[in-house]
Amino acid sequence: MSFRNRLRFEHQLAALVGLLCLALVGATVGGAVWLERQSALQLAEARLVRLAAGMAETLDATLSERFREIQVVAGLAPLREHWIGDPSVTRSVLAAMRTTAPDYAWLGFVAPDGRVRVATDGMLEGVAVSGRTWFETGLVRPNVGDVHEALLLNRLLAHGGADPLRLIDLAAPVRDASGGVIGVLAGHLSWDWAARVRRRFLDEGLPGTDLWVLDRRGRVILGPHLGTTPFGPARIGAMVEQASGSFAAAIGGEARLAGFASAAKGGRTDIAAGDPGLGWFVVATRSEAAALAPVQRPVQALIGLGGTVALIGIALAWCLGRRAAAPLRRMTVAADRIGRDAEATTLPRLDGALEFVALSAALRSLLRRIGTVERELSVAAAHSTRVADFYRRQIEDLRQVAGTDALTGLLNRRGFVGPAENAFAQARSGRCGVAVLVADIDHFKHVNDQHGHDAGDAVIRHVGALLADAVRSSDIVARFGGEEFVVLLVGLGAADAALIAERLCATVQAASIACGGRAITVTISIGVAAVSPRDPDIQAAIARADAALYEAKARGRDRVSLAAAIDEVERAA
Ligand code: GH3
Ligand code: MG
Ligand code: MG
Repeated sequence: MSFRNRLRFEHQLAALVGLLCLALVGATVGGAVWLERQSALQLAEARLVRLAAGMAETLDATLSERFREIQVVAGLAPLREHWIGDPSVTRSVLAAMRTTAPDYAWLGFVAPDGRVRVATDGMLEGVAVSGRTWFETGLVRPNVGDVHEALLLNRLLAHGGADPLRLIDLAAPVRDASGGVIGVLAGHLSWDWAARVRRRFLDEGLPGTDLWVLDRRGRVILGPHLGTTPFGPARIGAMVEQASGSFAAAIGGEARLAGFASAAKGGRTDIAAGDPGLGWFVVATRSEAAALAPVQRPVQALIGLGGTVALIGIALAWCLGRRAAAPLRRMTVAADRIGRDAEATTLPRLDGALEFVALSAALRSLLRRIGTVERELSVAAAHSTRVADFYRRQIEDLRQVAGTDALTGLLNRRGFVGPAENAFAQARSGRCGVAVLVADIDHFKHVNDQHGHDAGDAVIRHVGALLADAVRSSDIVARFGGEEFVVLLVGLGAADAALIAERLCATVQAASIACGGRAITVTISIGVAAVSPRDPDIQAAIARADAALYEAKARGRDRVSLAAAIDEVERAA
């Protein structure tokens, strides 16, 4: 019997429904959890993109503003005569520019020969800067250089941060009225400005958010792990292509979401003429776990709810199974009692589901049919028993009749054979001695002649009864025909048998047989022989007794004659 077959119906149903519930709830909860996660991730990514775009725009706007400012001041007609004239006027203009934008670490005007002519706080005035990219390019056109560590100013300026002072160079040519270059107006914007912007945006972001500014080659120019390249060329390529977007990546061994936006209009085709195009990217990242944290509670609530629904489903299925199986249980109990309990003869009539009603009706009908067949069978069995008994008695009677002498009720020759063979077997085995008596009524012909045949029959019957009564019940008495009887005396030797024979002769002689108002007396002669183990069969002993009888007749009748022992017979022969 398989495990499934050993389960109760309600348990099977509960297990099935439970599994179904679990599968349904699992699929629903799994789907809901997946959707929740996806929407949380999308939301977080969108937030990061917004944050990165905001910071990129701020950096871009400020840098553009500073760049325009340099160009505007360099091109101001009223100042033309003062650039190479009174340095104090130029110095006050530069000081005013720095007041407007305190992020300038240094502002200065450089003569075409490469020497600093005027500078804020007189810093580096007279120092040669020829060869610097910003200066050489500034002689030709306005330009913005990417962030770099300060060379000369680092020593001169008191810089607040632990990191070395980093600057962005802005420069524009200053021309006279005829368009000839008379020098370069330059400004070094402190990178602390960008760091402050970053801190402001970090405050705006959610906890765990980080911000990077990468240069066009993907190197970190602001944010943790300065100088490293956190993303591969493929990712940088994709960022350049998209300009703004989001992705998920493993950063520092942690799964993080990232939103990015290009700053300083790097790589964009719609860049305004003269605008700086540094190709920076602002990347905002946040750990995926932190982004998914708000989803945890709803997910747990969903799982809890799903589990509860599944449990309720299982309990309901179990109850349902019990209810559904109750009629079957009743039927089983009732069916089990049939045949054991005399009062239980039929099955209950079930109600409820149509199948149960039909089943109980069919089983009840089956029981009725079985009952009918059983009754028919028992009638037939009783009949056959009676017939068998009848024939057994008939056979018994026939056997009896076949082995019984009709006149005397003693054994006849046929009936004598079986018991005689048993006695002979005992004698042969030497267990006990057996003697044979052959008795014959003397002159019986006269009885018939004088008193009639019926009287003769009566005499035969009477003599038979006398012989049977005179011996033990274990001895065998038979009528061999006519007025001749054979008696087997079991457990006796020849001498004892002869004594018994004498007694029989005396008994018959003394008996008076009443018949038709007359008393008839008869005598008998008896030949006696002992059965020898060497006799081939009982007939041999009977033959010897018969010979002895002949001798008794010859000697005058009403007497006993003992046959010679077999040894003597053999010797005589
Ligand atoms: P013995 O002393 O030599 O035996 O003389 P017996 O006359 O008895 O012997 P026998 O054989 O000459 O006669 C036997 C008679 O018994 C002959 C027969 O008619 C008669 N008899 C045989 N069977 C029956 C029977 O069943 N009933 C009657 N009434 N007579 C029988
Ligand atoms: Mg006779
Ligand atoms: Mg005779």
